[in-house]
Amino acid sequence: MPELPEVEALAAYLRERAVGRTVDRLEIVAISALKTYDPPPTAVAGLTVTGAGRHGKFLDVEFGSEIHLVAHLARAGWLHYRDAFPATTPLKPGKGPIAVRVRLDDGSGFDLTEAGTKKSLAAYLVRDPAEVPGVSRLGPDALAVDLETFTARVTSRRGQIKGVLTDQEILAGIGNAYSDEILHVAKLSPFALTNKLTPEQLGRLFEAMRAVETDAVTRSVGQRAAELKGEKRSGFRVHARTGLPCPVCGDTVREVSFADTSLQYCPTCQTGGKPLADRRLSRIVR
Ligand SMILES: [Zn+2]
Repeated sequence: MPELPEVEALAAYLRERAVGRTVDRLEIVAISALKTYDPPPTAVAGLTVTGAGRHGKFLDVEFGSEIHLVAHLARAGWLHYRDAFPATTPLKPGKGPIAVRVRLDDGSGFDLTEAGTKKSLAAYLVRDPAEVPGVSRLGPDALAVDLETFTARVTSRRGQIKGVLTDQEILAGIGNAYSDEILHVAKLSPFALTNKLTPEQLGRLFEAMRAVETDAVTRSVGQRAAELKGEKRSGFRVHARTGLPCPVCGDTVREVSFADTSLQYCPTCQTGGKPLADRRLSRIVR
């Protein structure tokens, strides 16, 4: 799933390539992806792309100063920039990966795509990004908070730090992948409880968050959209590296189920050498 650094990089790429161009046509190819009906997609034709940015993990493309295309790319969503489209006729709504196509006046443009059969990419055409429910509920951006705000936000919710860090209402932008990385750098167990964290641990967590996210943004921005996924993967220490050695201590990276997914961590660096119990597994065994 694209997180803060990837969405930032996609927005930067659009600012470079699309801003200043005029929209020929905005096509909704996957009808179910569009969650709004007013303004209609036809209202975007003829408007200039005036900006691109993000709200947490939501991408925001501005047309004129009147319409925003806000998109949540979900787990398998992505943006593909096309120098040229193979055909000028509108795409027929169908089962393919393309959800939204934006054609620009120079023949280039971009597609919002989603791989797989489970479709959860969500696109919104709105006059104000705050009209998108997921955007209006976002907490402050992870890269915009200072230590004091970070501490207040994180400790406002009692729970396992992995879940609190990835809760978009607490802090916007952090997802499953980079939270694994942040907790590894901070040498904290993903299951540590927020109300038990010491000021020293919270300080370490804050520094780790800034370092991991800033480093990923630096590596991602400037990459072509097509190369971003590889760049993201190559920077990981523990995420998606189950069974491989920890680059810090050499211990084997382990995996445990968490919410509807799984997380990866290093026992030596993060949990005093003790593997975390997999609740889903122990439930089955019992
Ligand atoms: Zn380690």
